[in-house]
Amino acid sequence: MDGSPTALKDKLDQLLREAAEVSVALDRADGTIVGIPHYSVIEARAHELGRELSRRIQARQMGQFAGHAAETARCPKCGTRCRLDRQSRRITSVDGPLEVEESVAHCHRCRRGFFPPP
Ligand SMILES: [Zn+2]
Repeated sequence: MDGSPTALKDKLDQLLREAAEVSVALDRADGTIVGIPHYSVIEARAHELGRELSRRIQARQMGQFAGHAAETARCPKCGTRCRLDRQSRRITSVDGPLEVEESVAHCHRCRRGFFPPP
């Protein structure tokens, strides 16, 4: 895939159009939306998909930060250089709960864990 901003915007627009089409087809196929529903039902389903997309973007962004993190970080309390590990953590965003990957370290001198900034 061409990594230029224009190509990426075109690709995103295409994927969003396809996601909208599939979402509407799925809601009809599984009986979530039958006949002519009240507009609030249509709006609620659209928001649900938007929230799911938001959670996936958040998880992806956090995973990329963790993937590019250094292998060590200094303890913010004592300055000891500590090895970083990656761990999964469940967080609650404004769009609902999700799992994020993040870097975490444990300082053996201070006996505490810390999350270094990305
Ligand atoms: Zn420390």
